[in-house]
Parts: sequence; structure tokens; C-alpha cells
Amino acid sequence: MFQRTIAEKVSCTGIGLHSGAPVQLTLEPARANSGIVFERTDGGVPIDVPARPESVSATLNATTLGLGSARVGTVEHLLAALYGLGIDNVRVQVQGPEIPVMDGSAASFVYLIRQAGVYEQDAPRRVLRVAEPIEVHDGPKRIRVEPARSLRVTYRVDFSHPTIGRQSVEGLELGDGGFENELCRARTFGFLHEVEALWRAGLARGGSLENTIVLDEDGVMNPEGLRWNDEFVRHKILDLVGDLALLGMPVEGHLIVERGGHALHQRMVSELARRIPAWSQPATVADARPARAAFPIRMPATA
Ligand code: ZN
Repeated sequence: MFQRTIAEKVSCTGIGLHSGAPVQLTLEPARANSGIVFERTDGGVPIDVPARPESVSATLNATTLGLGSARVGTVEHLLAALYGLGIDNVRVQVQGPEIPVMDGSAASFVYLIRQAGVYEQDAPRRVLRVAEPIEVHDGPKRIRVEPARSLRVTYRVDFSHPTIGRQSVEGLELGDGGFENELCRARTFGFLHEVEALWRAGLARGGSLENTIVLDEDGVMNPEGLRWNDEFVRHKILDLVGDLALLGMPVEGHLIVERGGHALHQRMVSELARRIPAWSQPATVADARPARAAFPIRMPATA
């Protein structure tokens, strides 16, 4: 199995969830073994921020990466799309402090990457194969990972709001179209009283019913309703996939999450990252995920 980048440069424009300002996002093909690297193009000192566990600078509401004075926020839905479509190397240029929110899911990024096409590179890919169980917890919140032949996720949430309540997805296979069919369209969500508090604090200025499922006491405020009845837990898995993307290689293991969030996800990612020297292995043909094989493989436009 070989590493992959995108076949040509692609761009889109959207608004930043926190700033409310328009932001341009560009994805460019990148060399083998370079990984996913973010670059701020809105002036100032150009510092590359690699998508790695040690770059995480904040996990409140969204995952923020930082290096030196450079910060890039709300990276998780784009990272989830890159992971879900098997892209190892790409340069992400963003003209502002955060990745645009688009519709609150990863669907626009999946569309953008598909538009670019995929290019297979002349460098072997590695995978992180879980060799023994690990667990992290914080009170009733916990994540356990067990050995498995591919990435599988079990995720359980329990919210006091009656529209969500207890929701669970058991043993979802991320390959075989699982990411694109079951996860990438799940939107971020928030509760009206929290959203109002964020607005008062000058945050989430770009947040609206166009990019967030908002719940009030009566239920879902968005006129179009939900995309799935359990869209909430599906979005939590999407966030988890985005956080796992920081490992820089696909994970083969079964993650079992009870009431997770970005902070706990990152603790598991750190535990897995520490084991990369012992657990990473060359990917074999058997690791190929059918969703990726379904891609049109193209030559890079610059070749
Ligand atoms: Zn999210």
C-alpha cells in the first residue's frame, strides 16, 4: 500500500465558526512523508503547523493546532475527511485563524477532495496496528481501544436533552464506504442556551442554523430537521476520526467510547502516538479500504 496525496490544487470559501469572517481554504498536493501541514496565508510570519498530536493547543469546543505564534482552529472536520478518504500528504493553506465551518459536517471537504482526485505516491504507507488494549478515562467518560483488523468505532453518548438522550453506534467499520455513507454528513450541534452564552462572549459569531444543529427546550430548531435520528452520535464519531488523523497513519483497532469529547480523544491519541515506534507496521494490500479503491486515481496536474 502506498501513500496518497491529492492530484491537483483545489479551493473553497466559507466562514469561520468563531470569527464569522469569510475564509479561503486551499488544498495542495504534497510530497510523500510530509503528512498534513497547515499554513496561514493571511500575512504575518509564515509558520507551518504540522497536523501532529504535539501541535494541539486547545480542545475546547473544537480542536486548535498551534506552533509558535501560528494558530489554526476548527481543524477536525477537514482532518476527518482527509483520514476518511485515505489522504496521507497535503498542504492546507488557510487565509485566517480557522478552517471554514461549511455546513458543520465534513461533506464539503469530501466533495472538494473528490474534485481534486487522488494521486498514489511512490512511498510505502504505514499503519498503527493496536497490539493490546489501552484505556483512558475521566470519571464516567472513557475510551478503550482493542486490537482489530481495521478501524472500527463503538460510540455511546448520554445527554439529558430528550431529543438526544442515549444514542449509540456499535462497531461501525470506517472503510467500505462507512465514512462517506454513515459519517461525513453528520453536523455539529449545540444547545440554544450555550450558543447564546458563546455569542455574549464574542465566540461562535459565524454559528447559525446553516452550520449547526441547535436544540432548544422543544427540540431541533433547524427547519430542515435532522439528517439521521442519531446524527449527534455520528458527529461525535466524525470528530474522533478527525482527532485520530493527527497520528499521521491509519489506525487498526476497535475504539469503544463512552461520552467522549475532544479532550479525551486527544488523551487517547497521545497514548497511541507514544506506541507508534512499537506498533506501526508497513500497510499490506489487505489493509486497502474499498472506499479508497473506488477513487479515480489521477496523475498530478504538475507532473
Ligand atoms: Zn465537530
